[in-house]
Amino acid sequence: MTTAIYSHADCQRHEMGQWHPESPARLQAIADQLINAHIDDLLEHREAPLADLADIARNHSPNAIDIVRSQPHEGDDYYPIDGDTSLNRHSWQAALRAAGAAVAATDAVIDGEIDNAFCSVRPPGHHARPSAPMGFCLFNNVAIAARHALDARGLKRVAVVDFDVHHGNGTEEAFRDERRVLMASFFQHPYYPYVDPLPVTPNRVNVPVPAYTKGDVVRQLVLDKWLPALNAFKPEMIFISAGFDAHREDDLGGMGLVEADYAWMTEQLMAVARKHARGRIVSCLEGGYNLSALGRSVVAHVKALAEI
Ligand SMILES: [Zn+2]
Repeated sequence: MTTAIYSHADCQRHEMGQWHPESPARLQAIADQLINAHIDDLLEHREAPLADLADIARNHSPNAIDIVRSQPHEGDDYYPIDGDTSLNRHSWQAALRAAGAAVAATDAVIDGEIDNAFCSVRPPGHHARPSAPMGFCLFNNVAIAARHALDARGLKRVAVVDFDVHHGNGTEEAFRDERRVLMASFFQHPYYPYVDPLPVTPNRVNVPVPAYTKGDVVRQLVLDKWLPALNAFKPEMIFISAGFDAHREDDLGGMGLVEADYAWMTEQLMAVARKHARGRIVSCLEGGYNLSALGRSVVAHVKALAEI
């Protein structure tokens, strides 16, 4: 297996204040733990390119793009977008790298250069709505990549699987009426972003779970809800919104997953991808705010992707 890690130094230059949990240190913690686990040398490291505006425009309105692009590109000020999201002078560049990583990884996987990829990028994406940034997220990296796979690369069906503790409302909104996309997730509910969950359909298996839910319940949910839907849908590629804030050590979430649960979920998705999608998986970092738990969980996820 060749698993690539996409990242870029620009992704560590975007920050929203010293206090903010969605911090540049997250990517450093991931990089450190990959080295610490002795798997860093087994992965192919690739620089994230800048996304084309045309790629972003497949999922976002001109106004949503302008909100991020129109920030001043100098000075040390922060420019608030909502109560917990802001821009600094590096944010535009970082947002283009994060989306660019997802698109480039999609191309590399479809072209057979690599088997799968993990994009260790920020800002994250799954709360970003087609019409506006939201909740630490500027552009919806996974939705942009999924649309690229469908509209630029000609795939017929793709799945987006989201295991972040928070509901991927931006992704759900983007693909609400898109029959070529199956979205599968669980999310703590009621909880941020306080959007009422839409009903489960064959294309939308987004399952709310209460606070304190642990891995045994999540695994059963994956077996009972996600896998039957995925196997019926037969996606030609799987995108993962890989948030690790459902970890029991993560204070931004209230769930009880551990590293082994992330490894197990990844193995299940690998099996679906092998069966229907020639193994194609592109995974993108979303949440995960306890730096130690984040790094350890990404190691578990990436080891499963690389079959190490
Ligand atoms: Zn989250």
